[in-house]
Order: sequence, then C-alpha cells, then structure tokens
Amino acid sequence: MTDHVRVRFAPSPTGPLHIGGVRTALFNYLFAKKHKGTFIVRIEDTDQNRYVECAENYIINALNWCNIPFDEGPGKNEKFGPYRQSERKHLYQKYAEQLIASGNAYYAFDTAESLDHHRKDHEAKGKTFIYNWHNRKLLLNSLSLSKEETQHKLDAGEAYVIRFKSPKDETLNLTDMVRGQMTIETNILDDKVLFKSDGMPTYHLANIVDDHLMEITHVIRGEEWLPSLALHYQLYDAFGWEKPQFAHLPLLLKPTGKGKLSKRDGDKLGFPVFPMEWKDPQTGDISRGYKEDGYFADALINFLAFLGWNPGTEQELFSLEELIEAFELERVHKSGARFDPDKIKWFNHQYMQYQNDDELAEVFKANQPQLKDIDVNYVAMVVGIIKERATFVTDFWDLSSFFFIAPQSYDEKSFSKIMTNDARELMSELAQVISHTSDFTVANIQSDVKAWIGKKEVGFGKVMQPLRLALVGAMQGPDVFEIMFMIGKAETVQRINKLVQTI
Ligand code: GLU
Repeated sequence: MTDHVRVRFAPSPTGPLHIGGVRTALFNYLFAKKHKGTFIVRIEDTDQNRYVECAENYIINALNWCNIPFDEGPGKNEKFGPYRQSERKHLYQKYAEQLIASGNAYYAFDTAESLDHHRKDHEAKGKTFIYNWHNRKLLLNSLSLSKEETQHKLDAGEAYVIRFKSPKDETLNLTDMVRGQMTIETNILDDKVLFKSDGMPTYHLANIVDDHLMEITHVIRGEEWLPSLALHYQLYDAFGWEKPQFAHLPLLLKPTGKGKLSKRDGDKLGFPVFPMEWKDPQTGDISRGYKEDGYFADALINFLAFLGWNPGTEQELFSLEELIEAFELERVHKSGARFDPDKIKWFNHQYMQYQNDDELAEVFKANQPQLKDIDVNYVAMVVGIIKERATFVTDFWDLSSFFFIAPQSYDEKSFSKIMTNDARELMSELAQVISHTSDFTVANIQSDVKAWIGKKEVGFGKVMQPLRLALVGAMQGPDVFEIMFMIGKAETVQRINKLVQTI
C-alpha cells in the first residue's frame, strides 16, 4: 500500500444526504487534505430496490455547496473508475467465486420461505436463528449438498446466494483508530450473504472489493458500520489483501442527548436534518435544508466538525483551512455527539460577522421587494451597521426597515411613556437644531445635538428617547446619530416633526 492517503465517502443513493452523512464526508475530507491525500466519492447503489432518483445529484450538490468537493468520483478524475457500483457490476462475481474456490464462501439455495420458517421455529423456542457454523450443514447449500447436486442446481439456474463461511472458535482482534483494540468471537457471527444470483453483490462484498481496487488507505465511516468490521476483516484476510485502517465516527444524538438523530427528526423537532432542501421525487414532500434556511456553508461545516471531535483548545471558530490543520482522527470521541440546533445558530451569527457586506446586500435586496430600487451601496452600509445583531439574512428587514422607510407607527407603550408635553417641545426645537447642522456627518450631528442638550440643561435620555422613537418607531436599533446620518437631514427632520404632530 502506498503512503499516499486515499479515503472515500461511500453514500448509498437511497435518499437525501443526512447531516450525519455530511459530517462523515467532512471528516474524510479533512483527513485527506491534512495528509495531502485524495478524497473520493463512491456511489454504493447495489441495492436497486432502495435506489432513489436524484439522490446522487443531491449528494454531489450538497458536498459542493459545503465546499468539500471530491477529488475523484463520478464524472471527475476517473482514474479508478467507474465510481458507481452499478457500473462495476461485472467486477464482483469473480471475487465471490474466488472465495468459493479458496473455501471461504459457499453457494446457498435456501428459499426465503424456508429461512423464514427456520426463523419462526427458533423464535417459538425462544432462540435466534443464525445461519452459521452451527447449523449450515443442515441447510440447503454447497457444504451440505454433494458437488454434483450443487452443480446440478447451478446448471438448472436455481436462485442462489453466495455466503461467507465464517469460521468457528476463532477470536478476531480488530483495531479502530477511534475505539482502539476490540476482540470478537467468530462463533457469534453469521454467514453473511456476499453475492446474489441476480448478479449483484451485497454491500459487504462490493465495499471491500472496491476499497481494495481503489487503494483506499483509511476507512472513515459512521459507527453504525462497526458491527460489520469483523466480517470486513475476515474478507480482507480471505482475499489475502492488506487492510486499510478503520475509524468509526460516533453517532449523532438528538438534542435531548437520548437516541440517534434520524432523518425523520428534523421536521418534527423544528430544525433541518439535511444540508439542502429535498423534494421527495415520489411524494413531492419537501424537507427543509440548512442552505435554504439561511445558514452559511462555512458555519455549518464549523459546527459539524465539532460533532465528535474537538481541537483540545478553547478555540471554536475555525476556517476550513484551520480545520484541516488541526484535525486528527485520534481526537475523535467514542461517545455519541449531541446535536444542538442552538449552537449552529450561534455559529451562523459568528460567521455573519465575517461575511462581505456587498454580497450580503445583494442577497438582502433579492429577498426584499421594498429594496428593489434602493442603491446597493446604501444597502451594504446598512448591512454593515446591523449585522452584529443578525443571525440570518432574513433577520435584516426587521432590524433595518427604518433605514429605508419612516416608521408607520410607534411602539404604544414607549409612546405613552415618553411623549410628554416637554418632549414635544424639545423635539420641535431639536428639529430646528438639526436642520441647521451644516455638513451632515455623524460627528457634526453629534456635536451639534450634544451642545444643544448641554445648553438646555436637560438629561441626555430626555432627548435621545423621543428621538429614537421618531427615527425607529421603537426603543431599539443602532446608534441614533448613525441612523440620522444614513437617512439624511431632510428625512430626519421630517420624522421628528411627524412624531411631534402625532397625538
Ligand atoms: N454505503 C454505505 C453507507 O451508505 C457505506 C458504508 C461504508 O463507508 O463502508 O453508509
């Protein structure tokens, strides 16, 4: 095996990519880039019954949106291609037959009904039916039948499967980069199906053969595949191939910390579980996605990196380059990672601050019909002022509408508390002061208004509160001097006068 790191993300196109799948892809990507290696995408579509149209496209688009594109995969740099298992179908049979020839696998002709019967029969006796060393001689396969009988069935075109012959009384020593050493007794393992007479391999065979042929050095995947590790070890040994290293990533848990986060949870719990919106091609049902919900891809990635891994320091904000630098499989945790939807909002808020104001302004303008005719540079300046309070671009309008249109009404509570006769008089006078401010800059407005307040010997709040109400319509928003500067002198004076006239 070469020193060059080659890892693969191997999704089955049975639906949209779950957020946990994105985390698996990300950890593969980070590991590959850290070691100047290759990140491969392989589509594991051997199970035709579960194939979902558009799923492959969705997966590829999602990886691209997340900025973790693959180096090799369908339609890209196909050195070890094809990368769809359905297009590699012709490859697998010979490997299954090779295992039969070496005594590591056998043909089995049991029908679904007969297996079902055995299962029920065992259940009735309080036992579990396992197809393995302890009963395989009693079942219908090339180990219980004579060579001639087996050949006869094959020649007659009877349906069969090829099963792995799991050995008796052996102890397997497995190594995982996350979990360390594990031992498994082979006696509890069943003889897994590797190949079916429809010409299709099962996941196990195709996965091992492809990892070998594609020269994969590290298999990084979700913990749900840990139970398959023993079989995979045995397959490598049976073929006489060098094994890759394995790392099984911890499960993603529901926000409560109890139970696995599933595809169905998201819409129920009020947050997306998919990177992008997914429209079910059969039902037309739409599931929400992080992209459409207004999350930044880099915030999502930063958040996902911390699900099951941490750098061992206090730092939480990491660019993709910094993640690549800091990432180590040795620091991946064994215990499940709780999915906290509030935390990803926090990340989004943080990443909002790094976004380019001009780009945000374009998105804001495109979302908000009222901004159609407003100069994009003005919108960008507004964005620069209010984004420190925003988590999503969809928060912008509520935070900034007063920069574009005068308040249509005033917050009632504040109005009745603030708008005394004194306040009206002060505001009328203030409108005069402001209309005389020459060169309408933040600094000039500020010094004129402050000088006037000083002369009047009134409290600062007595002026600032009604002023804010006039400009914003409520007791919130950024610095009033900045607001006045942005909307301009005429509009400021008009808003103050309007407040004075409102009863
Ligand atoms: N096709 C498997 C999946 O859907 C891949 C498991 C693996 O990475 O070995 O997750």
